[in-house]
Amino acid sequence: MRRAQAKGWDAVGMPTPGNVTAALDEIGLDYKVMGDEIHMPCPMHEARTGKPDKHPSFSINSDAGYFNCFSCGYRGPFVVLVKDMLEIPHADAVMWVRQRGGIEKVKKFLAKKQPSQVDTSKQINEASLALYVTPPIEACGKRMFLPQDAEECGVLWDTKRGMWIIPVRCPDTGTLWGWQEKNERYFRNRPPSMTKSQTLFGLHSYEGDLAILVESPLDVVRLRSAGYTAGLAAFGAGVSDAQMRIIRDHFDSVIIALDNDKSGTEACARLREEWTGRGLTLRFLDYSLTDAKDPGEMSDQEITDAVNNAYSSVLARF
Ligand SMILES: [Zn+2]
Repeated sequence: MRRAQAKGWDAVGMPTPGNVTAALDEIGLDYKVMGDEIHMPCPMHEARTGKPDKHPSFSINSDAGYFNCFSCGYRGPFVVLVKDMLEIPHADAVMWVRQRGGIEKVKKFLAKKQPSQVDTSKQINEASLALYVTPPIEACGKRMFLPQDAEECGVLWDTKRGMWIIPVRCPDTGTLWGWQEKNERYFRNRPPSMTKSQTLFGLHSYEGDLAILVESPLDVVRLRSAGYTAGLAAFGAGVSDAQMRIIRDHFDSVIIALDNDKSGTEACARLREEWTGRGLTLRFLDYSLTDAKDPGEMSDQEITDAVNNAYSSVLARF
């Protein structure tokens, strides 16, 4: 029944492949299309974290309309974005999307995802990483580490597209689950369904016992270049219970070094609340002597000071 209705919309000239982008144009958001994903700076970042999204952390699947900010965790179906951007009630946003055929696009996308139609040429295996190389010194230099640091952490580089390739592996076996592709403008998970909240970046390359938990895998590389070789990344501020349990399996204590912004601080408060008395000692990175947002922006000396001054749960100010 709905399908017939959708055809009706197509028949009156709705741009079928461009429903989502057409809607974004109408809302007035700037974006870049990359395959079936649309990228842009997160439009709700400032409202949620107090700071604008410097790198485009936000993507929308142009088929399904689902959106996600990997930095602040703002995510949901397209209708929620419409509601927030146009500041209208949910029911009105549903109407707005429905009038543009968006709901039908979601249904079509889900119907397409039958196992028989899975494209096996894009399956993830170790050989797929053979296309990528050690990151060049120029790209590494901008992030204050050396190619060797990247190599030791398993981070690779896509020369053709100028992108970091960050492998995501099973915590127990090291089996490749997929990877993240990113540069200043783009970010994408391959495959998009990869359950990175069930693992940690850095788990297969760390040395020593001074565990430091950060949000971004590239900050694990930065920590290594500053002499801290047991950095772990949770792939964002939304640290999961599974990730904390993995840390507890490997370490007695951990310095939590999530970003120095609203979502990072809120996550620290939550971890302190949930993880006190569970067999893992938590300390928190001291950002008080730096303006940096994360360890990736800090000098070696700033990192050393912030680590040495890391404070206990008891002294936490959040
Ligand atoms: Zn955001």
